[in-house]
Amino acid sequence: YPEIAFVGRSNVGKSSIINTLANRKNLARVGSTPGKTRQINFFNINDVFFLVDLPGYGFANVSKDLKASWENIIETYLYSRKENALKLIVLLVDIRHSPSKDDITMHQWLRGFGLNTLIIATKADKISRSQITPRLNDIKKVLQLGNDEKVIPFSAEKRIGIEAVWSEIDINLERFLNQKP
Ligand code: GDP
Repeated sequence: YPEIAFVGRSNVGKSSIINTLANRKNLARVGSTPGKTRQINFFNINDVFFLVDLPGYGFANVSKDLKASWENIIETYLYSRKENALKLIVLLVDIRHSPSKDDITMHQWLRGFGLNTLIIATKADKISRSQITPRLNDIKKVLQLGNDEKVIPFSAEKRIGIEAVWSEIDINLERFLNQKP
């Protein structure tokens, strides 16, 4: 099955978006303890593809050992999947803040792998409507995105951006389905 993987800092709202997309409450673990999920969780969507929940990062308060083990888990996953199963990697950033050093490093690292990357700005309900465009522009600038690269505002709480995210996922899955002989 093709896979769509989600990555982001701990507490960015990764479990919430996966729950929303999978449309099943309590499917992914939702919690606010940083670094709680250290393994990779797979969610089978209608036997068509998998949503993949990669462990959250945020290295400010974690030991070197934990950071190394995190990098190992992600790297092993990316290397084993990048040529085949992995169709899209979704990088989550909090819409309220400029991407952190860790976010920038992660984004550049994913680019280095040559993976298709989609940026989603989470918790869009936490800012006023008029602030959304300026915040998205700031995120684009900090991550040095090209003009053709999108940042999609999303809120699990207010259910904003669900269709836009699905349409990106569909495009990337379709690309895969069309490649099939
Ligand atoms: P994870 O650690 O990245 O998996 O993040 P979670 O999905 O567990 O969310 C972390 C915290 O942010 C929880 O308290 C969620 O209720 C909250 N949260 C997640 N998504 C949203 C959202 O769209 N809007 C608001 N207001 N809060 C959110």
